[in-house]
Amino acid sequence: MKHWNEECAVVGVYGVENASWLAYYSLFAMQHRGQEASGMSVFDGEAIQTHKAQGLVCEVFNQSTLSNLKGNIAIGHNRYATAGKNSSLDAQPLYARCSLGEISVVHNGNLTNAGILRERLTQEGSIFQSFLDTEVILHLIAKSKKESFEECIKEALKSIRGAYCLIFVLRDKMIVARDPYGLRPLSLGKIKSEKGEGYIVASESCAFDLLGAEYVRDVNAGEMLVFHNDKITSTQLFSPKDFKCIFEYIYFARPDSQVFGKNVYSIRKEMGRELARECKIESDIVVPVPDSGVPSALGYALESGIPFELGIIRNHYVGRTFIESEQSIRELKVKLKLNPIKEVIEGKRVIVLDDSVVRGTTSRQIVKILKNAGAKEVHLLISSPPTISPCFYGVDTPSKQELICATHTLDEVRKYVRADSLHFLSLEGLAKSVGSNEGYCQACFDGKYIENCFKSEDEEE
Ligand code: AMP
Ligand code: SF4
Repeated sequence: MKHWNEECAVVGVYGVENASWLAYYSLFAMQHRGQEASGMSVFDGEAIQTHKAQGLVCEVFNQSTLSNLKGNIAIGHNRYATAGKNSSLDAQPLYARCSLGEISVVHNGNLTNAGILRERLTQEGSIFQSFLDTEVILHLIAKSKKESFEECIKEALKSIRGAYCLIFVLRDKMIVARDPYGLRPLSLGKIKSEKGEGYIVASESCAFDLLGAEYVRDVNAGEMLVFHNDKITSTQLFSPKDFKCIFEYIYFARPDSQVFGKNVYSIRKEMGRELARECKIESDIVVPVPDSGVPSALGYALESGIPFELGIIRNHYVGRTFIESEQSIRELKVKLKLNPIKEVIEGKRVIVLDDSVVRGTTSRQIVKILKNAGAKEVHLLISSPPTISPCFYGVDTPSKQELICATHTLDEVRKYVRADSLHFLSLEGLAKSVGSNEGYCQACFDGKYIENCFKSEDEEE
């Protein structure tokens, strides 16, 4: 089944005046995690107000929409574009009225048993408006017979499997929950305002920097936080099993973020250094594929002593290429996005560094534009291992058949991308760069998923 609720950014702001403005700036800082749609829910003292639409944060919100979202609690979401569906019904937050009152929720991650649960709920009479896994969670909460929202949420969480960072607004309460594996990142910060202290919870800490918020800690895997009456209560709902997404360090997160307690830039640079130790190539310059290849290319250059050159320039006004479903459009978008500097490349033996190979489209285009710019040799180096398995935990990867490294040998891939040589960082090198691969998911590189993650509760018993 194709998953609809992918990558994404979530934010929750609690106990600060004009919370919507802070949530807006946070979403702005996390725009790289999703560009398809954006939205926000705010409790204005009487009711939960929601505004969401397709588009970038700056297109969805303006002075007037934000001024109408008044209140001290706000939750927000950026949605990642996926192939096929572009419905505004799939934008978040998801709002509902149930017997206990109003509820609105944002979700980052992907439930692995959403299909099974959806089928069961549909048979029991539930009707769905979107393809979001998140709607399944709302139905489970609405059907719970417990007496408080908090208890209903706890009960719903027991049935779901896979990855989730959830932030709920329940009028004057905000509830945060992270899955027992801590697959997707979620950090807690403190905001000082004239009226005292407030809190922020966000997918990436780069959101805190923009607001002058102080990073406190990560929300623990399996932890639930309740923000109410200016206090936070923490409950460890599930024992933490730690299976954090290592790909966050490779591609998704912004280099200036602290993810899983570590700085992304330093890790990416170390990946480049490690690659230089693993793979020594005679060449004249090291060129990054901007932007995600920059820190690792810098690391490679520093370790190898080969000069670093910004030989490819990126047009920042074109979205990420991966999201286009048609192969021909993807190829054109690579050309629109990346342009080589002929004066830097011509006559040189070039090492070009990118973060990952998925379908191979980008790599092939990059080698082509470098050769067209006059490169004598092009050595393609990738600062992660070959992607051989799809992700089921909320990251938009194509099926196994479309992953070029899953279906072809290394030399076949090299021939396809037309590079003079092709090298990937080893799994051991990746582990060394991160510190250790203990407690990390690297299933897209080794195919080892969480046991039982596709089963329902009943099947597990
Ligand atoms: P491809 O052209 O299909 O091989 O995609 C590889 C490029 O996509 C790399 O340059 C990465 O920077 C980028 N990339 C890797 N994973 C993802 C993802 N899940 N979403 C969007 N872009 C990605
Ligand atoms: Fe991250 Fe890959 Fe695991 Fe998905 S499969 S959670 S992308 S490491």
